[in-house]
Amino acid sequence: MANHKAHVLPVEQIVIGSGFEDSRLKPDQAIDFMRDKWATERATICAMEQDTDGLDIDRLQDFATENGAPNLPIIALSPKNYAKATMLAYNEKGYATTDGKLAAEHGLILARRDPDLERTHGPKITEAVIAHEIGHAAAMPTVLARVDVEYKKQLFGGTNGRVSGKLTRLGFHEFPRDGAVTGHVFEEGYAERLRGKYVREQLGMARGFSDLSVEPTPLDVHVTGRRDNQDFLNGTYGAYLLGQMCEINADLSDALRDARADISTKGNVVDIVDSFEPDMYDNLNKLHYYDDRDTYILTVARAVSAVADFKKI
Ligand SMILES: [Zn+2]
Repeated sequence: MANHKAHVLPVEQIVIGSGFEDSRLKPDQAIDFMRDKWATERATICAMEQDTDGLDIDRLQDFATENGAPNLPIIALSPKNYAKATMLAYNEKGYATTDGKLAAEHGLILARRDPDLERTHGPKITEAVIAHEIGHAAAMPTVLARVDVEYKKQLFGGTNGRVSGKLTRLGFHEFPRDGAVTGHVFEEGYAERLRGKYVREQLGMARGFSDLSVEPTPLDVHVTGRRDNQDFLNGTYGAYLLGQMCEINADLSDALRDARADISTKGNVVDIVDSFEPDMYDNLNKLHYYDDRDTYILTVARAVSAVADFKKI
């Protein structure tokens, strides 16, 4: 336990939020508190019974290395344990039914072994979920969390205040304290492209999991394999658009990859995207699938059409 915090988010990736002016707690104490909390949660999650039956963890870890992602432990859990782990890490019920989650603060990739999901496609479809999370993990150097302290009269850990830590940036995704979340098209699109790549290149399924359905699927578009095999994931739209753009301007692939490790190079992505149509980056970047799904889909569809027109010129 000498250096139990070594695996949680490094200090330099944590920014100081608000509330300290009213609290006796110093910012470095609050950061230390959150890192201790994440380290304890991490240890508890890692000690849970894992279910890796049928999963090729070595293949996934090689894929992470090839795609510039750090080798975070991949923790595959039964639905019950996954619900417990996400509740412990995020104190939110909503994560219990997600397929997977990059727990960036804890330095872990969590995956849920969903029998419904695996019924038709077996463990491969869970590997595909993990490949998507590896896409997010490739942004680990650009992840930022903010630590806030809420002043309360009660004593807390010997100080006045309640400490909380929240992600403020994950790659292209930004989560401002007030205001709308941005970057969904580029962040989820990037992660979803990696899932598509894994499915085609590592699992050898050229048409993804739609192999078992009658409908053909455009390249780079992944379907979940749930129910009728036709459910599209939110990241799919962004992945398809990014794929179309990269086909015309191959430099975009490198620019996207580089911005994962160093967000200060994001301008290269913006320049290429705006070369298809002025302000296209901003128009896409402000969209969020869960806030306004219709606007999201329509705007991405319009961008696909603009990129196609650009190709014709
Ligand atoms: Zn995602």
